[in-house]
Amino acid sequence: MGKRPHNLYAGPAILPLEVLEEARHDLLDIGGTGLSLLESSHRSPLYAEINETTANDLRTLLEIPENYSILFLQGGASLQFGMIPMNFLCGGVADYVDTGAWAGKAIKEAKLFGTVNVAGSSKAENYSRIPRDLKFTPEARYVHLCSNETIGGIRWNDFPETGDVPLIADMSSEICSRVIDVSRFAMIYAGAQKNLGPSGVTVVIIRKDLLEKVPADLTTMLKYTTHAENDSNYNTPPVFTIYMVGLVLKWLKKRGGIAAMEEVNDRKAAMLYDFMDAGGYYRGTAATEDRSTMNVTFRLPSEELEKKFLAEAKNAGFLGLKGHRSVGGCRASIYNAFPVEGVEALIAFMKRFQADNS
Ligand SMILES: *Cc1c(COP(=O)(O)O)cnc(C)c1O
Repeated sequence: MGKRPHNLYAGPAILPLEVLEEARHDLLDIGGTGLSLLESSHRSPLYAEINETTANDLRTLLEIPENYSILFLQGGASLQFGMIPMNFLCGGVADYVDTGAWAGKAIKEAKLFGTVNVAGSSKAENYSRIPRDLKFTPEARYVHLCSNETIGGIRWNDFPETGDVPLIADMSSEICSRVIDVSRFAMIYAGAQKNLGPSGVTVVIIRKDLLEKVPADLTTMLKYTTHAENDSNYNTPPVFTIYMVGLVLKWLKKRGGIAAMEEVNDRKAAMLYDFMDAGGYYRGTAATEDRSTMNVTFRLPSEELEKKFLAEAKNAGFLGLKGHRSVGGCRASIYNAFPVEGVEALIAFMKRFQADNS
């Protein structure tokens, strides 16, 4: 096999090589069955075990309390933007914090199902920080936030106190990257393709009392209760994606779990931010105190230099450094599976480019 490039794509994103190799090994014959999982029934004992083990491993890793259900859904995190208000807003009021592109998409969908109060927004500051002065509605059905804005590269370090109002978070681009107190949230959701596996499944962690609020007259597939009551096996689930998520979780356990991962992630991000802060050539776009450890966004002295930087980076084997098309600039997505050595190599490349172009 050829040398793997440095994969800095925002998503679908880098997977651990070990996980890919294990999947390759299992591809033609899983567990001595002589069958590929790709051609096996989702009602087979083999898949039942994968489904259960994957959920159990996530529960262990994130220390998810027993009063939460873990669901594997389809439609991406984007479907959750609509499913959440469909199940829980129902003509009432909900508070949303507007931190950027993903929070904005969630707000757009929620408006179809009730009243949205934007409790805080950093739009005026180009979404370069997490808004501080939040105005919550006492009778809100829930509060929604995006814990890590993949495009702007900002994250919540501390989560707001919402009392009895359920707190719901989109953690797509940072789930399992740092220790989180799950009991602070009524619901957490995350598309798998950033930090958990390939695309095709969305993990939903939902407190069981919330399930009691789901209206009976919703279409079957869009009710959380349908999936909770059927162990996410009401219809055919994306079995291979869920199997891959299971492998990633086993890899995380082997690496020492979430706290150990967080330590490495903090170190990787600090290396990159410290280098940029010291030189002044590369300018981080996120407010220092709200910087994401997963998505590092930065600019060069000019757009012309950015173009050149991206082209040369690609030639040198650093893929996916282009910022999201809506904001431009550059972004290094350094998820769990992106190694420390990759960050070192990136910094060495950035130093060389700077020396040649300033
Ligand atoms: C990628 C992303 C999404 C969208 O995920 P899909 O699975 O493509 O729907 C939503 N929220 C955040 C924070 C993301 O990073």
